[in-house]
Amino acid sequence: MAGGEVTGIGYRCQYCGQPLDVTPETIVAVCKYCGRPNWLVGALGYPIVLVPGRSRGLDRIFYRYIESDPDMRRLREKVHLRSISLVYVPLYTIHAIASGSAWGEAEVHLTKLEVRTVNGKTETRIKHRTVSVTVSEEYSLSHDIDLVARRSYETRIVDPLVRYYRKKGRPYESLGRPLESVNWEEVKGDVLAAEIHPDEAKSYARDEACDRSYEIVKKALESKAKDRAVDLSPPGYVPVSVDWMVLRIPCKAEVTDMSPLVLLPMVEAVYTYEGKVYRTVFAGWDGSRVYGEEPMLAQQRLAMFGGGAVLSGLLSGGGLVTLLMSGLSGLERAIGALGVLAGMAASYYLARISLRDVRVEEVK
Ligand SMILES: [Zn+2]
Repeated sequence: MAGGEVTGIGYRCQYCGQPLDVTPETIVAVCKYCGRPNWLVGALGYPIVLVPGRSRGLDRIFYRYIESDPDMRRLREKVHLRSISLVYVPLYTIHAIASGSAWGEAEVHLTKLEVRTVNGKTETRIKHRTVSVTVSEEYSLSHDIDLVARRSYETRIVDPLVRYYRKKGRPYESLGRPLESVNWEEVKGDVLAAEIHPDEAKSYARDEACDRSYEIVKKALESKAKDRAVDLSPPGYVPVSVDWMVLRIPCKAEVTDMSPLVLLPMVEAVYTYEGKVYRTVFAGWDGSRVYGEEPMLAQQRLAMFGGGAVLSGLLSGGGLVTLLMSGLSGLERAIGALGVLAGMAASYYLARISLRDVRVEEVK
């Protein structure tokens, strides 16, 4: 098993014997002389498992994707693989429960549309009303939290890997190997050092569980306040908005389950197509593509332009027609105006996408 050695003057690399930089939080110290990872497992006192990735035949993962993706197969003559590498990402998966007694005093604004006929003429008018209510809610919410044990990392490519890992049922239970039994000669690839200690991960998870709960509980209180205000109003009133005079959402969170520190294999391929560089990321344990930047084909670009024009034409056409028709209520006119805006937004957005060269895909 690999591990840094304590000597009289501190930790030394077990491969080349040079001194290692080690702080109390260090889990893995990557030797700055030979670049190999030294595991300070004893120092951490926390289980670490490694989900093995393929160490050989990484190229095959990439070429299998090129052959199986219809868009990419058409480009394959001009696609050149520049590099492909295996990196292990350290991850905690944590289950936390947040709970508390929330309470608030709100002013709820309601409106009612009244239609009446006076001397054969139809009149409409809007009535307003404000109701003060007090609401409370006992809550207990559980959250699954994934935490990459790095101070900073490239979220754009790592987060899809982590989401895929969770979607697959977190296979460390079946695939993971305790660090003690890992053969480092077989496991090639770079390991990103874990920079976040388990205790810090727990405290992060508790904060995160409370943060996520806050908005959920606030919405629940808001909808209770609206229901109460409707109950306290004459028939026909509809709640529009809620102003909080007092809003208290205290939170206590506890971690009920936490995985070992899992080292997740990530395969990153860098390739060029017509002089531009693109990246694609695969899950190292099963070879599935989890993130990709694909060159955009001229055909796809055209289809998007076409789609944009047709869609916006339909929407704004519909909107304009509605606006020109006479004798419409304000509401119908508002819907017509919305149609025009939606059409403009859609064509703007689609045209913008189709002018880019890269189409980013997160494989769901
Ligand atoms: Zn070394």
